[in-house]
Amino acid sequence: MFPWMLEVTKNAPQMAILQLGYAFKNFFEGRAHYPTCRRKGRDDRFTLTNDQFRVQGKRIRIPKLGWLRMCESLRFEGKIVSASIARSANRWYASIVADTNTLFLPPTENQGAVGVDLGVTTLATLSTGETFIGPKASRSLQSRVKRLARSLSRKVKGSHNYAKAKTKLARLLARIADIQRDGLHKLTTYITGQFHTIGIEDLNVKGMLGNHCLARSIADMAFGELRRQLEYKAARRGGQVVVVDRWYPSSKTCSCCGHRLDEMGLQVRQWRCSDCGALHDRDVNAAINLRNMAVSSTVTACRGEGAGLAREAQGETIPGEAGIQQQS
Ligand SMILES: [Zn+2]
Repeated sequence: MFPWMLEVTKNAPQMAILQLGYAFKNFFEGRAHYPTCRRKGRDDRFTLTNDQFRVQGKRIRIPKLGWLRMCESLRFEGKIVSASIARSANRWYASIVADTNTLFLPPTENQGAVGVDLGVTTLATLSTGETFIGPKASRSLQSRVKRLARSLSRKVKGSHNYAKAKTKLARLLARIADIQRDGLHKLTTYITGQFHTIGIEDLNVKGMLGNHCLARSIADMAFGELRRQLEYKAARRGGQVVVVDRWYPSSKTCSCCGHRLDEMGLQVRQWRCSDCGALHDRDVNAAINLRNMAVSSTVTACRGEGAGLAREAQGETIPGEAGIQQQS
């Protein structure tokens, strides 16, 4: 028996055992690594079922702790299922699961179609020609990370000053993560708010997990999250995300005439089609191709307003204008 076991609610280990069951299931089905032990101070989180806590306005009652203030009240109505309490840097978060049917957002504005090309230097390029540079932490934040990490490394492990430096660094890293998440949410909210049909590339998420290059893997994580956000936000607005086959050569195909290049280097930013003479921006051209693929795959499947509009515009794909024509 461990002495600290009585300090926490008996429900915390209860849920943990259930979750261990899921972890082993994921492991045996090849989705995850072998479950590892949690550690106090690192994996500070637990889950409560709805009979263990109460929410009242901007406060939550947690067994053994009593009433705690929250930053905001619960935004959704419906039956509360469970709550996960977790720590990030020096803040505690409660994620409350509610069974609700009020998730639907106002429908998309212009019901058009758009293609989204994802990249490393520019996070996303739309078929309308708009580009979004991914939310990056500013240079001053980056240099502060460096400074704090250096200061942490000079402290004696286990000392009070070590703990203080560690918290400082963790807070800064959490803030950078917040900035990045905010930027991604704004981008996906914008895209799903403007366009009904969204064409994106299928990314090899499994293959990416094996990629050890840091910059690359961070970008890949952002792509996976971007797609997840697009899919759920589009669903709530009555739109749809069309995932185009991973092997479709969206960059190498001319969006005007369909001419396909045999090869194109990664550093090529602009190219002229040898067949029809159109000048293409690499990313915009790829995005237009993704849009056309998304449109053609939905025209046969559904005959909604979105598909009808998109079909009309598809006959005349002038690069750069293709997306704008949708807005009528
Ligand atoms: Zn061409």
